[in-house]
Formats: sequence, structure tokens, C-alpha cells
Amino acid sequence: MRLSRPMRINMLKKFAKFFSKNPSPAVASDPHIVPSGDHPISARHITSGAKKVVEQLVSDGYEAYLVGGCVRDLLLGMHPKDYDVATDATPEQVSKLFRRARIVGRRFQIVHVRMGPEIIEVTTFRAHHSAEHKGKDQSRRSSKGMLLRDNIFGSIAEDACRRDFTMNALYYHPQDNSVFDYANGLRDIQQRLIRVIGNAGERYREDPVRMLRAVRFAAKLGFRIEDGSAQPIHKMNQLLADIPPARLFDEILKLFMHGHALATFHLLREYGLFRLLFPATEEALAHDPGYYLEFLEQAMTNTDKRIRADKRVTPAFLLGALLWPAVQEMRKKFERDNSSPVYSLQQAAGEIIHRACQRVAIPRRFSMPMREIWELQLRLPRRAGTQAQRLLEHPRFRAGYDFLLLREDAGELEPGLGEWWTRFQDVDEHKRQEMIGSLDQPREPRSKRRRRPRRAAADKQEQHD
Ligand code: ATP
Ligand code: MG
Repeated sequence: MRLSRPMRINMLKKFAKFFSKNPSPAVASDPHIVPSGDHPISARHITSGAKKVVEQLVSDGYEAYLVGGCVRDLLLGMHPKDYDVATDATPEQVSKLFRRARIVGRRFQIVHVRMGPEIIEVTTFRAHHSAEHKGKDQSRRSSKGMLLRDNIFGSIAEDACRRDFTMNALYYHPQDNSVFDYANGLRDIQQRLIRVIGNAGERYREDPVRMLRAVRFAAKLGFRIEDGSAQPIHKMNQLLADIPPARLFDEILKLFMHGHALATFHLLREYGLFRLLFPATEEALAHDPGYYLEFLEQAMTNTDKRIRADKRVTPAFLLGALLWPAVQEMRKKFERDNSSPVYSLQQAAGEIIHRACQRVAIPRRFSMPMREIWELQLRLPRRAGTQAQRLLEHPRFRAGYDFLLLREDAGELEPGLGEWWTRFQDVDEHKRQEMIGSLDQPREPRSKRRRRPRRAAADKQEQHD
């Protein structure tokens, strides 16, 4: 994901040279213009889609810049995840200009412009919300001060003040190759600091998701959250409870699927944010039998490794891991009430998903496979007869097996079963039969007559798999 080492060194040298010549101004609203050659970005680092969008807007007489994470990441010698464009054109004007453009969002309207395989996010410069906007549909706040509509448009200078962190308020003009720094973002990038623009408490109140973003960037970039921006999080973390669960679901994916899930997990807990996202898991961690934390750390480490190796990570697996300690705690409660293991797990799974969705809206397309991964944990030990072969063909087998390995690695289970399954997948049919034959498990239920109703139920269950 990174630029080559010589390119990065060259970039950082330029960056250091720029700082030695140009200390950043103290006044946030004054743009500091860093000319071409004095910063490490060059237009050839920008994707053609992003360049085309800016060029088209400019040729139609609008102002347009690259902004946010792409400028920040390029300054750091990293490949941007995506490109954002800021302009004075309204969403309607932008969408008329491009054939494949779509206005999205209500709270914060943006335009998605599709350019080949790329989607460029185009935002109109935002302005402050003043008394004259009160009651208008473009500007609405909740009784706690949270912005429910943030669609008041303004100038680039106003837009810079409305962005979350100083490092994200940098604008880059690909045509003259200069960087506009309105909020001392360059200084903070050099000092590896995450600093909220304006009063941190007020900015978190306006949009509590900014607290999650601070943590995400701290984990991703290895930056420190500056004290004035960090302290309010401890007091204000409960504001996250007011964020719509669907938005939190999107944020969860961004938090845990950018290759730094482990660091993110620790920071979220340190700032008291994790308990607001996954209250039942945090509660389970308080009764940790010794392996919950280990399990979650292993799951996060695994996720990071897979993402860095460009392997697929499914939200179902990730969320399944994040909720597993909670499921286990509840399952134990049902078992203490003498419920069967299968019933206990099913009840616990249903209850935990229901509770989790009140905070983080997990779509069914993820919660269903997540449940199957959990249920496989009870089925994977049962391998006699044709069961092992049938499990191997289960659409969720691979995820269930990986999950089992995690549980073993964390010390939740005695090692052995995972290795058995690893071997079973590797060997030929003949060896598989041998492995099943040497299992210390009955091939079939001993008394068919007594067990028949249960088998029927099990078969029915499998038809749903
Ligand atoms: P990345 O894309 O690498 O995750 P990013 O900084 O580009 O990081 P985006 O979510 O793509 O993050 O947002 C683009 C820009 O929009 C940000 O850099 C920031 O300037 C602004 N922004 C995004 N979310 C908020 C917010 N909640 N409050 C204020 N500004 C925001
Ligand atoms: Mg971005």
C-alpha cells in the first residue's frame, strides 16, 4: 500500500526542507500557500479519475481542490484510500456536470462521481450555521447540539474551519501543484498530532463520530491525539449513544478494516468508546475467564494480517469475533439453567444480536453468516460418520474453522480439534476415512428409534445451511 522507499525518503526530505523555511502561521483562517516543489506531492501521484473531476469543475468555472485524507496521506508518503474533492459548486451543479454522478446523504450531502473503477466524493464547501439558518432544512440540530443537517454552503476558508482535524483541512490544487493550509495542519502532521479544529468539546458535541475518527487516525497513522482533543473524549464518549446505529455500523467497518484493528481496539477501550459500541462485550470482558481479551486481540491481529496481505476480511467474521465473549457469557447463563448446549447457543446468539443492533445496525446479510459461524463451533467437534464431509461442504466452513483456530490460540479450547480439521482438509479421501475411523466418537446414534425425532430436527437444520 505504500510508495517505494526511495520515493518516500525523497518526499520526507522535501517536507523537512519546507518546514525549515516556513514555520506555519498561527492564525487558522489565513491560508498558508505551499508552492509546488516545496512539498512532496506531485500531480503524478493523483489518480486520473480524481484529476479529471477537478479539471472538469475548474473548466466549468468552479473552484475545486483535492482535500482531506488524500492530501494528508500523500504528504506522509502513503497511498490514499480514496480521493475527496471540495468545490464551490452545489451538489446539484456537480451532479449535472458528470454523467455518472449521484447525490447521497441527507445529514451531509455529497456527490459520488464514478470515473471508471474509482468513486470520487465531491463535497460542496460548508459554512458555519448561524442564527439566520435556524429552522431551515439545511441546518438542524438536536436538543444536545448535534448537527442533524449540515448542508449550509460557504467559501473554502469557511469549509476549512468545518473540517474535523487540522491535518484534514489541507487543500491541494493539482493544476498549479500548491497546498493550501488553513489550520496549521502541516505543522501538526510534522509533529504527528491529531488536533480538532476549534473547541474540541463543541466539535464532538456537533458530531460525536469525530471521537471515533480521532481514534481511527491515531491507530492508522500512529499519531498522538493532542491533549486538548483527547481529554474531552473521556467525558463525552456517551454521546455516541445518540448516533443512528446505521451510521455506527459504517464507522465500525472503517475502524476495524483498515489494517490497524488491534491498535484501534486498544484505543477505543482506553477512551471508553468501545463499551458504547459493544456494551455486552465490554461487560463480558469484566468477567474475563482469562481468554476473552486474548481472543479479541488474536482476532484483531488476524484481521490486520489479512488486510495487509490483501486477503478478504468478512464483516461477519469480524463482528462475530467482537461479539463472541458476549455470546459466551450469555450461553453460560442458559446452560446454568439446564438448557442444552445447542439451545443455549441459539438463544444467546439471538439475544446478543438483538442487543448489538440497538447500537450498531448489523445488516442481516452479515448477522446471518455470523450466527452460522457461531453455530459451527458446536458442530465442528462432531465428525463421526458422514458429518465431517458434510461440514466441509458447509458454505461457512472456512470461516467457522478459522474461528475455531482463534479460540484454540486464545486458550479457550484445548488444542487438537483445529489441527484435526487442518489435516482433514489436506489429505485424500482414503486418509479422511481413516481419520474418521480412528475417532473416538460413535458413528451413528446408538438407539435410532429413541433419537429419530432429534435427527429429523438436525437434518432440517442442515437444509437451511
Ligand atoms: P480516509 O479516507 O483515509 O479514511 P479521510 O480523512 O479522507 O480519511 P473521509 O471520511 O474520506 O476521511 O473524509 C474526507 C474529509 O472530510 C476528511 O479528511 C475531513 O476533512 C472531512 N470530514 C469527514 N468526516 C468529517 C466529520 N465527521 N466532521 C468534519 N469533517 C469531516
Ligand atoms: Mg477520504
